[in-house]
Amino acid sequence: MSNDYLQNPVLKQVFKTLGIPVPSPELLVRADKGTDYNELSSKVAAISSTSEQSEWFKLLQSVMSKRVQLEYYANEMDIMILDATAASAIDDIEKTYSFGNANIKKIKKNGKILVLASGAAGLSSEGKVVSKSLDGFVKSLAKEMGGKGVTVNLLRLPELATLKSPESIWPLIHFFISSRSAFITGQVLDATVQPQGADFSDNLNLAGKWAVVTGAARGIGADTAKALAAEGAKVIVLDVAPAAESLQQVADEIGGVALPVDITSTEAEEAVRQVLKDNNASLDILVNNAGIIRDKTLAKMTPDQWRAVLNVNLKSVIRFTDALLTDGLADNAAIIGLSSIAGIAGNMGQTNYAASKAGLIAYLREVTAANASRGITANAIAPGFIETPMTENLPFFVKEGGRRLSALKQGGLPTDIAQAVAFLSGPGGKYLSGQVLRVCGGSFLGA
Ligand code: NAD
Repeated sequence: MSNDYLQNPVLKQVFKTLGIPVPSPELLVRADKGTDYNELSSKVAAISSTSEQSEWFKLLQSVMSKRVQLEYYANEMDIMILDATAASAIDDIEKTYSFGNANIKKIKKNGKILVLASGAAGLSSEGKVVSKSLDGFVKSLAKEMGGKGVTVNLLRLPELATLKSPESIWPLIHFFISSRSAFITGQVLDATVQPQGADFSDNLNLAGKWAVVTGAARGIGADTAKALAAEGAKVIVLDVAPAAESLQQVADEIGGVALPVDITSTEAEEAVRQVLKDNNASLDILVNNAGIIRDKTLAKMTPDQWRAVLNVNLKSVIRFTDALLTDGLADNAAIIGLSSIAGIAGNMGQTNYAASKAGLIAYLREVTAANASRGITANAIAPGFIETPMTENLPFFVKEGGRRLSALKQGGLPTDIAQAVAFLSGPGGKYLSGQVLRVCGGSFLGA
């Protein structure tokens, strides 16, 4: 189901002998679902800063020294953090280059590089230029390091004085330096929201939370439901009636509640509200995952194909989410929508699908703006090529293209999306709202 076959030693030899330039991608190391936040204790990390006086640098040293092995002169390292939050002039970021230049070869396979820039309001004009220039640095380095399975991402951080507590930053940093983010690279995210109601402990972070995952009978939705449950959440799984059997299996596996209802009907929100009422609960996590494709070029697309995709992927998501925002969702809830890189870059034969997925990003931004005072966050995840039943039937060369046109040179797995959803649902994700988190292996499409 994936291009793991390229790891086959016989095939590798055949390619080599024939002189066919098909490099085999690095097998990505992925975290198990529900692993705790101390999983990095044996990892070697180095933090460098553009300024020894950087407040973030000092805080990170204190927070990380308890959870990883901080070493400045290690010969090999798993994690490299480049703090440029205090950089205000173009010359300041030369230190980012020079530390990287001297140490990049020490990063182990499947290593993690995280660049931190300032997202503080009130940056000077030059400060904004400096912060933005790091985007290009990160996206380029991601392409250089992808062959080793190393990920490189950038977070724009808020002013440190606005943090609730120093420790509260750990789940945000943790996600990007752990194997939970194995398929996320070349991404730049604004993590400047002031989290409300996001209590952090080093243990499971979703204990006691209620979640709904739509389209959870299989693929990404089923894996997401499992990841949320592994973090301690009680999960309501929803899918169409013909998928009721596999939906029930997912629910049984995770001790959740199965609702075989169609998302295009108002019965969906009514059924969810009934479960919440029966359990005297409100909803903390809403994952709009259900989605369909009906690919055809515009000239050949029937009205039914257009309408079905817009209806399931966008209109129903808006109706369902608005209904639960009015009655069902708790304050400080996390709303996550499964968009797609097709919604960012467009794709041949997918005018309907890409329109629905681009609209979804815009809708979630509107939700962010309208519900910030309730502490509700709304973010989109844009998967790249993920190995699921939806993509399994694509022609071989379309699949290979989807996998290879990326920094990591392979497709993702449902667990990559599931981990990203779990992150956005928990305290680390509360720093982000109105964002698009691409889980795409550094896909070149629309990047
Ligand atoms: P999938 O087809 O394997 O699973 C989708 C699930 O949604 C199915 O169980 C299906 O029955 C359910 N569903 C469809 N219509 C529904 C309806 N009207 N009501 C309730 N449930 C319904 O798909 P997947 O690959 O797991 O994709 C999940 C989401 O991720 C989708 O929104 C998809 O567009 C998005 N996505 C997937 C990829 C990928 O490469 N697989 C890439 C980008 C985005």
